[in-house]
Amino acid sequence: MSNKIQEKTDIRNISFLELKQKIVSLNEQSHKSNQVFEWIWKKSKTNFDSMRNISSKTKKKLEENFYFNQTKLKKKEKSQDGTIKFLFVFFDGKIGEGVLIPQKQRYTACISSQVGCSLDCTFCATGKMKLERNLMYQEIYDQVVLINKACEEEYSSKLTNIVYMGMGEPFLNYKNVIKSIEKINSEKHGLGFSQKRITVSTSGISKIIKRFSDEKLKVNLALSLHSANNKTRTEIMSINKTNDIESLKEELIEFYKKTKIKPTFEYVLLKGINDTKEEIQQLVKLCKQIPSKVNFIEYNEVENTQYKKTDKKRVEEILSTFDNNKITAKFRQSRGEDINAACGQLATKNKKT
Ligand code: SAH
Ligand code: SF4
Repeated sequence: MSNKIQEKTDIRNISFLELKQKIVSLNEQSHKSNQVFEWIWKKSKTNFDSMRNISSKTKKKLEENFYFNQTKLKKKEKSQDGTIKFLFVFFDGKIGEGVLIPQKQRYTACISSQVGCSLDCTFCATGKMKLERNLMYQEIYDQVVLINKACEEEYSSKLTNIVYMGMGEPFLNYKNVIKSIEKINSEKHGLGFSQKRITVSTSGISKIIKRFSDEKLKVNLALSLHSANNKTRTEIMSINKTNDIESLKEELIEFYKKTKIKPTFEYVLLKGINDTKEEIQQLVKLCKQIPSKVNFIEYNEVENTQYKKTDKKRVEEILSTFDNNKITAKFRQSRGEDINAACGQLATKNKKT
């Protein structure tokens, strides 16, 4: 007799079809797979006990064959401006961060796609960490569920927007990011959250932008541009060495043609670096070549960097230049800075040495 312990499977790491086959092989009716999948992805349950319409006999079989990798909320910190920072612990003890940003009628969850980041943008705190690992799609989904729960508790509202702007580069964990979007979006087997209210932000990997355009999604794309000049951009974002502005331009135009969605340029204003007259003129020129809009971002201080924010007066001048050129541009003020929850301030320990 074999005493080998039967290996269990993470029930959230298999497709609907695989679950169905397994359920049938356990001599259970196939329609139960629908019920189980619904409990997992629509009602976000991470244990079998809560699956009320499943008999205890079936639950026992499921428990013998499957387990859940759970994501837990370790800490929640609230800023003076209402922004809440979340510390999550994943099944292996790795720590990730997420943020809830309340604004009038809008509640945005900012979620992470990786623990750390393999890129090293000079102005970003996450860039000072090593990449520890990619997050699995269920871990990205879990962040949305946990932030949404807190949003309901704190603000009596569901989330209205989701941005992939936390730790990590979403396009370097592409498959999990796409799968997480599917789970967050699906009406039948997911949270039913509109794709139009989701934004993926990338530092700009041309061939992945191409792949993303071909997915036929209705998800918004934000490109962290930060300079329309190759020399400056390479100095602050080393990814520009292999993905220069011309290659990004080509793919962003294609993205617009295929999706009819205007990409957003994110542009952190760094005093004396990318806010000069020449830099802004180059940005205006680029915006005229690509159907797009611009989000200027207030720079958030990061330890061990010498950057300074652009002065208020200069920000006003830049915004009026865009207004005069009829290019949609907004200035996004920092949120949650007092608790290090603002853009680019997310970083757990284990910095790059
Ligand atoms: N890796 C992705 C998504 C995460 S970063 C990306 O780079 O797009 C989310 C946004 O925060 C990016 O636009 C990034 O450039 C910006 N950011 C990084 N550091 C920042 C800082 N110190 N102040 C303000 N924004 C910052
Ligand atoms: Fe990574 Fe984005 Fe930070 Fe650059 S800005 S280091 S890509 S998280």
